[in-house]
Amino acid sequence: MDILQAKEKIERLKREKNAVILAHYYAPPDVQDVADFLGDSLGLSQLAASSEADVIVFGGVHFMAETAAILCPDKTVLSPAPDAGCSLADSIDAARLAAWKARHPDGIVVSYVNTTAEVKALTDWCCTSANAVKVVESLPESRPVLFGPDKHLGSHIMQVTGRKMELWDGVCTVHDEISSMMIHEALKRWPDADILIHPEATCSDDKELIGNERVVFASTAGMLKHAAASPKKTFVIATEADTMHQLEKENPGKVFVPVSPGIYCREMKKVSLENIIESLETGKGKVVLDENIRTKALLPIRRMMEIK
Ligand code: SF4
Repeated sequence: MDILQAKEKIERLKREKNAVILAHYYAPPDVQDVADFLGDSLGLSQLAASSEADVIVFGGVHFMAETAAILCPDKTVLSPAPDAGCSLADSIDAARLAAWKARHPDGIVVSYVNTTAEVKALTDWCCTSANAVKVVESLPESRPVLFGPDKHLGSHIMQVTGRKMELWDGVCTVHDEISSMMIHEALKRWPDADILIHPEATCSDDKELIGNERVVFASTAGMLKHAAASPKKTFVIATEADTMHQLEKENPGKVFVPVSPGIYCREMKKVSLENIIESLETGKGKVVLDENIRTKALLPIRRMMEIK
């Protein structure tokens, strides 16, 4: 089946099943092109919650489909690549989080959305890269914050807010490749460009970069917003490389340069037109959650969605 036939088949199946396809900006470009809605974790959670479709096909890694299923108990949520994992979600589980909490009984747990439903169920607040700073700023100063699982995002928040937190030792193996040295070299090599960096990157706690007016730390949606509004013509992109697909589509005439070729999330590339078709045809990849876990996980996600 060629791409055109696959796209036609997906359109027909969507109509038959009253389905929508949500895709993350790191999904392969052909998956992005068939999606009804594209977004980052926060945007897609909001879209899932407001969708009137009966079926949501989630073009992303498994924890994202799980988050949609937590928000939409009356809908069928399909994860076309249910084995698509995430190094952050894999770095912490409910037992280890419970042990961490026991060592800090007064602590407030803030979990990045890249976690399993079981971890969210033991969490006080979820956040995404788009609202992590605001979430932490909203918490009482008098109590310790346990932030996980991304230590680079946690360090970035500590630098920006001045608030000390306990950090879990997890990383996104994709953004962990983006070092301070790479960014300092890019600043010299592209003197007219802004550098857009995802705060999961290793360089995110570099004080010099945080204070540099040409450097913008942002979620993917934040990068798209900045690129559209900025008078600059060139942008160096320090995040997952397929983000460039949408940046280029939405900003004809502007130039986007990857900080390093080959920064791809292999897990996200497990989603394909073929497995989307298979999911729609057979229901493969249906997310099933324990109702007790789901209701507990819903509270920190709702709190996250209230802070924009
Ligand atoms: S890019 Fe990193 S955080 Fe995002 S899904 Fe891949 S491994 Fe997880």
